[in-house]
Amino acid sequence: MNVPFLDLSRQIAEVRADLDAAIADVLTSGWFVAGPQLESFEDAFAAFCGAEQCIGVASGTDAISIALRAVGVEPGDEVLVPANTCVPSVAGIEAAGAIPVLVDADPVTWTIDAARLDDAVGSRTRAVLPVHLYGLPADMDAILAFARARGLAVVEDAAQAHAAEYRGRRTGNLADAAAFSFYPTKNLGALGDAGAVVTNSATVADHARLLRNYGERRRYESVLAGTNSRLDELQAAILSVKLRRLDGWTERRRAIAHQYREAFAQTPLGLPAAPDERLHSFHLFVVETVARDEFRAQLDQAGVGTLIHYPVPVHRHPAYTHLDRQPGQLSVSERLSSTIVSLPLYPELSDAEVEAVTTSVLRVLQRL
Ligand SMILES: *Cc1c(COP(=O)(O)O)cnc(C)c1O
Repeated sequence: MNVPFLDLSRQIAEVRADLDAAIADVLTSGWFVAGPQLESFEDAFAAFCGAEQCIGVASGTDAISIALRAVGVEPGDEVLVPANTCVPSVAGIEAAGAIPVLVDADPVTWTIDAARLDDAVGSRTRAVLPVHLYGLPADMDAILAFARARGLAVVEDAAQAHAAEYRGRRTGNLADAAAFSFYPTKNLGALGDAGAVVTNSATVADHARLLRNYGERRRYESVLAGTNSRLDELQAAILSVKLRRLDGWTERRRAIAHQYREAFAQTPLGLPAAPDERLHSFHLFVVETVARDEFRAQLDQAGVGTLIHYPVPVHRHPAYTHLDRQPGQLSVSERLSSTIVSLPLYPELSDAEVEAVTTSVLRVLQRL
């Protein structure tokens, strides 16, 4: 049996009739930017997160830069960010004019190591951007305690973590603001680019709303220097259709992850951490293995697609070598980039496909 790493067409097929109707409504309305679809999606997504305010923007990367600026980060300020993340986290910081300072990953949870914040913080540090990597919330109690003691802002990079929870509270609700992505492959995906800033602060929300629209409080009156970052009516309508299914899809992701975890418990695979206070949303199911290339090649032969998230740590990209720290300071992130591999996990996988993945993985492990 062939199990593709991801197949978005299945989800589209499931909601196709509703999508067609939603798109037709927008076409008929003749209104394409900053209208009722955006407002109603923003209200619904804020409610989904259990947060006060949602501000739709053009992408997750824009959400990061706008959220950082909205909480007061200014050009030249430093922002602490995990090295074990994808480039967009860092690109969003730089788009705000700020300087990313990389912090190593916790060897157990693979999210930012709160114990290492102390040797990255400096007089120019203004904020921390923890990434809820693969859908597992970062160590928020420790991060917030560290930040509050030093007057730093905290912005969640929740691009992979819609519906994840920390001590019973959903992401979007765990810090000063959060950045979400609705890139098509994310747990809630548009049919193109889209993102959102979520916050409980009226001040931060107001600032973010100004920033996404040229700083205009009223038409043709810019009160601050902003940008154009819009979540358009079509994407908002599409997201509203999909948001109604997100709880069910997330449950299915968790159920599949549970099956994988049970099946692989007695194997040498390193499995995702599951601290009691955190509820994973399983954007990705990432395991750690030695002999990764062989593992992947044999799974590929068995028809099981895999990918690596991410094969190159941020500071090893040609554009970001200047972000490297002292030798050894990012060693966990470096190790992970050579040992992690992502298995297929999306709500539309059939039971037979999940079974095929587990059987193939167990078979390959015996041969390694
Ligand atoms: C996808 C992603 C982003 C960026 O989102 P875009 O919508 O693609 O700009 C940022 N951070 C993380 C962790 C992501 O996975």
